Amino acid sequence: MEHTIIIGAGPCGLACALELQKHDINPLIIEKGNIVHTIYRYPTHQTFFSTSRNLEIGNIPFVTEKYKPVRNDALAYYRDVVSRNNIRVHAYEKATDIIKKNKIFEVKTIKNNRTKTYYAKNVILATGYYDQPQYIGVPGESLPKVKHYFKEAHPYYGLDVAIIGGKNSAIDAALALYQAGANITVLYRGASYSKSIKPWILPDFDALVQKQKIKMIFNANVKEIREQEAIYEVGNQTFCIKNDVVFAMTGYQPDISFLKRIGVQVDRQSGKPVKNEETFETNIPNLYVAGVIISGYNGNETFIENGRWHGSKIVKSIMKNE
Ligand code: FAD
Ligand code: NAP
Repeated sequence: MEHTIIIGAGPCGLACALELQKHDINPLIIEKGNIVHTIYRYPTHQTFFSTSRNLEIGNIPFVTEKYKPVRNDALAYYRDVVSRNNIRVHAYEKATDIIKKNKIFEVKTIKNNRTKTYYAKNVILATGYYDQPQYIGVPGESLPKVKHYFKEAHPYYGLDVAIIGGKNSAIDAALALYQAGANITVLYRGASYSKSIKPWILPDFDALVQKQKIKMIFNANVKEIREQEAIYEVGNQTFCIKNDVVFAMTGYQPDISFLKRIGVQVDRQSGKPVKNEETFETNIPNLYVAGVIISGYNGNETFIENGRWHGSKIVKSIMKNE
């Protein structure tokens, strides 16, 4: 029997483990990829908008030469945190169900087609949002040319690329694709630039728009994606643009169907799991949520910067319940 099982070895799940270790509890983390799998899946050349200090967990120093670390710096940092602290992680194992029976959780998992059941007194769900893109819901969105993740720009050299969305992933992808020689049109539903765009990337982007190197279309509502074109409306006018690839950078959301299936109440409007604000305990006693999973449809509320502190509230509650 485990004292606590944490599902998800992202920065927030790892921070919960370090917090538990302060109380001599070494929890088990079950992770469907490897540690910090979401960061591993970021664009290869991603620079964080956070400083390295703001990405630290367990007060373990994260020192980088540059003020803002890149993806590879963070991967190395979190690997080091896990190995130095002997955090127990079962990698490449996916949690498929959580059932509570007589105050004990049964955590069902699958690894290499083999199922397994673990038993635990407490469970912390820290599964993030990155596996579930926010789909636009238009015909053609499931075509292979439509992508919800941007990794590298090189394969798109010389191609006509449409980017849907107008926040940081869309603007970052547009800048990288422009540098790699793609012809870019950004289709954004907003009437002007989003206030969420980091102020240090907007000037570079806007300069390219002003010089007509990147086409920026505001108030653009995408209606359909076809093999060689995309259809969008601005007001009551319909436009068709030729394109080879579409990056729909429309954000991500937690796995709400999983939360509901295991019995966690989810607010219908916000998509947020209902929880005690002080303890992060859900409606199921001893089942907690940590990290960006708490943000529902608004992924811009929780980051590593603030999600890394959820563990202290959760562990206080776990220890109080003992
Ligand atoms: P995650 O990091 O998503 O970790 C969840 C983990 O759970 C994953 O490893 C996943 O594989 C695992 N998992 C999911 N389902 C299961 C399952 N069923 N069984 C087992 N394991 C499972 N935030 C900042 O603070 N600063 C930044 O500069 C910053 N830059 C960003 C750049 C990009 C491109 C993106 C997309 C996000 C950025 N963020 C940044 C946001 C940050 O990545 C998230 O807030 C953070 O990853 C949330 O951490 P988490 O531990 O809650 O979730
Ligand atoms: P996001 O912030 O959720 O933005 C999604 C964009 O898509 C928004 O512009 C939104 O429009 C638009 N959109 C959403 N649903 C749509 C729909 N149905 N139809 C058309 N447009 C739609 O997602 P993101 O940019 O991928 O960012 C995700 C997270 O990663 C955020 O926390 C962000 O801060 C972080 N991030 C960080 C960095 C960095 O550190 N350098 C880089 C990229 C991302 P509205 O503007 O109208 O809402």
